[in-house]
Amino acid sequence: MIKKLLPDYTVKNVAVLDEKFYTERAIKAVIFDIDNTLVAHTEPTPPENVLEYFALLDKWDIKYAIVSNNSIERVDSFCKELGVPYYGKALKPRKKYLKKVMNEMKVTTDETALVGDQLFTDMLGANLLGLCSVLVTAVGEDETSFVSFKRRFERKILENNKEKLTEYTR
Ligand SMILES: [Mg+2]
Repeated sequence: MIKKLLPDYTVKNVAVLDEKFYTERAIKAVIFDIDNTLVAHTEPTPPENVLEYFALLDKWDIKYAIVSNNSIERVDSFCKELGVPYYGKALKPRKKYLKKVMNEMKVTTDETALVGDQLFTDMLGANLLGLCSVLVTAVGEDETSFVSFKRRFERKILENNKEKLTEYTR
């Protein structure tokens, strides 16, 4: 069970994931979480640095999509201008919407990475499907006390399994 919570890779932030990371692993698509992954939960729309990173993905011919557990309203306002598939209220680690976006992007589980900041939702969801799971260091503050509470368990799990973690650096 613990194994399913652990990421294949850890990164300090999304921008560390360069073209080499994707090509060496034959990854053709990335599913991103939003809150504390791409931005702090207080950012209503994608800031310049996120748009720049998405432009790089376009250039590298890597498809991307967004699957968030946050409200439909939050996810709509963040994603509507991006022109990529997205789902809010996705209830990760449930597989349903992860599978849906992969279908829309026409990619297989082997070709897909999931980038997120939480073990119990993002990493578990990715690992249950056999995606490449990438854990980012959380951006910004936690939105709710429930998230901070979970975060304490997550830190303990990561600390106890330090030797099994692989940080990707350029
Ligand atoms: Mg998150």
